[in-house]
Amino acid sequence: MVSSIINRSLDDAERLNPTLNSFLSVEREHAAERLDVLSNTSGQLPLHGYPIAVKDNICTNGMRTSCASRILENYRAQYDATAIERLNAAGAVVIGKTNMDEFAMGSSNENSAFGTVKNPWDIERVPGGSSGGSAVAVASGVVRAALGSETGGSVRQPASLCGIVGLKPTYGRISRYGLVAFASSLDNIGIFGQTSADAAKVLSMIAGRDERDATSADVAVPDYESALNDEIKGKTLGVPRALFADGLDNDVRHAVEGTIDRLKEQGAEIVEIELPNARYGIAVYYIIATAEASSNLARYDGVRYGFRAEDADELRQMYFKTREEGFGSEVKRRIMLGTYVLSSGYYDAYYSKAQKVRALVKQDYQKALAKCDAIITPTSPTTAFRIGERSDDPLAMYLSDIYTVSANLAGVPAISVPCGLSSERLPIGLQFIGDFWSEGTLLNLANTVETIVPIEEKPAIFAE
Ligand code: GLN
Repeated sequence: MVSSIINRSLDDAERLNPTLNSFLSVEREHAAERLDVLSNTSGQLPLHGYPIAVKDNICTNGMRTSCASRILENYRAQYDATAIERLNAAGAVVIGKTNMDEFAMGSSNENSAFGTVKNPWDIERVPGGSSGGSAVAVASGVVRAALGSETGGSVRQPASLCGIVGLKPTYGRISRYGLVAFASSLDNIGIFGQTSADAAKVLSMIAGRDERDATSADVAVPDYESALNDEIKGKTLGVPRALFADGLDNDVRHAVEGTIDRLKEQGAEIVEIELPNARYGIAVYYIIATAEASSNLARYDGVRYGFRAEDADELRQMYFKTREEGFGSEVKRRIMLGTYVLSSGYYDAYYSKAQKVRALVKQDYQKALAKCDAIITPTSPTTAFRIGERSDDPLAMYLSDIYTVSANLAGVPAISVPCGLSSERLPIGLQFIGDFWSEGTLLNLANTVETIVPIEEKPAIFAE
């Protein structure tokens, strides 16, 4: 039974990959070893034989962990990330590593060094990014749940574009040990699920303090599954209407507003709130994230990890050539931007100002969340766009995260849940943002949306 579920998952991953390109590796050997271990385990573990897909920037012992970059193309992790260690202990089986934007920089998956991932609802469209491979592994029915990572929306935005649930927990809820660093003060491991119940199940297993990550919090981990079906009657939901503005697609607006009405019918109280500094979110994010990235990515120098350029006459040239040949253009753009905003003369004008505005963004959330249990916004201003449509326009691409980045800046948790289909039959996602450690409330709200606006349609490409 257990082995047939895992084998079906492995087969589906391999069969669909030529079309969707969501996996960078399908880990048959590893899965066989795990099945062996599980068959010798007495009793039933909480995730016994549960197949899971993992983004390729999360370390998995002995498996390739490439971050979809040439610079780590043949790198194999020497240890498991804490989240993986905990999943293994719970009986889950990693069936493959998923494609992504290089070093988690992007919103469409077009920045992977190993080809674009296709959206299973329409293979001419992007799945979102940067965790597009994990989103597609779940949306196409290969697995029920997958791990991704979030720095500014990389789980919620692809979840929205692929019609599944995507959770970014509170900063510090899940250990980052073994997550390859992009922008450490913003990075989180996030979870994709076909439903909120799948995400709750996985979160319950991997959350909690880890002494190997000093930023992981010592906050008790509740049983997230048990609160899923609570009544939402009496809950207060805040709507920042000023953000439902320019650039928001009409179908998206309609689906989100319709769901707000349905939540009201269920007994939720809807209040208007304001997040006055949210409009600076993208600007602040692209200063802080690039600054931290320029520092974190300095470690890829051809000496410590992965790829080293050939034919260099001396050391400095070797560094230059390795980074020139190893990194893709978006990663280079970010390193340059980050180095610039940190350089003397510009540090005060950009970086330190961005930190101040980040504090204001956080304050906005504190004020708004004192008045409500969660905030509702669209997850993404549009549905899945066409492959190539925004790839020459970095600013248009950056705007994909307009609704998601501020939760990362503030460190608060947020979830995306499907709330309808557009006139082109593409999924639309709604986002709930909550106070620190309110993942249980967010999962409960997402579960309610799944019940009151169910989406019966499946993607065009779905394993069954
Ligand atoms: N799309 C955003 C970026 O390119 C967010 C990425 C992420 O969350 N990892 O930085």
